[in-house]
Amino acid sequence: MNCWIASFYQNQKRRISFNQEHSCFKSQPRLETLIGVRVQSFEMGVFAVLGVISGSFVNVCLARLPLQFADGEKRSCLLTSPKLSTCLKNHLREKTISLYNPARSFCFSCGHQLSWVENIPVLSYFLNSGHCRKCNDPIGTGTIVTEIVHGLVYLGFGWFLNGWIWPLTFSINFSFLWILVHCWNCQKARMTLFITGVIILLFNLGIYLIHK
Ligand SMILES: [Zn+2]
Repeated sequence: MNCWIASFYQNQKRRISFNQEHSCFKSQPRLETLIGVRVQSFEMGVFAVLGVISGSFVNVCLARLPLQFADGEKRSCLLTSPKLSTCLKNHLREKTISLYNPARSFCFSCGHQLSWVENIPVLSYFLNSGHCRKCNDPIGTGTIVTEIVHGLVYLGFGWFLNGWIWPLTFSINFSFLWILVHCWNCQKARMTLFITGVIILLFNLGIYLIHK
């Protein structure tokens, strides 16, 4: 009887030991896969967030550059246009609008300065139902389209290209091309865009030479 109990005990010990070794052997790749998936998901999330933030900045460029670089003819045309709000006409008349001035985003209809809650890319648009909180004027679908497209494109580059440098380089190029295409008609802005384009090209060349 004692012999049976000893044998059973030994078998149990061997089985537990085997199961532990076996489970460790099998769970290791699963754990690595799980960590890999989580890291990749985190990276994709970062690319998507960077995309919508960049899209928000691109929106500022698209809205302000044509006003900042409007020539005399365009300026007088805008000043007499009933479509342009009084707030923007004042900025245009006093030449107080540029990429960095006013520093904070504002409603182009009533001049209301946006709080941080109203300035979260993509989210704020849906929270405010696509309207200004103060004057209730529509923000315009172009804003949300630019932000979502940027989020998706940045995510796509992050997904298909390795590492961080190349996805970010391609993403910056994409954002620049987006601004270039939309502001091409603004002749006075072309020189600034040309200089920015040259800087971006040199940046691309530097990245290529470093990773060659
Ligand atoms: Zn408003």
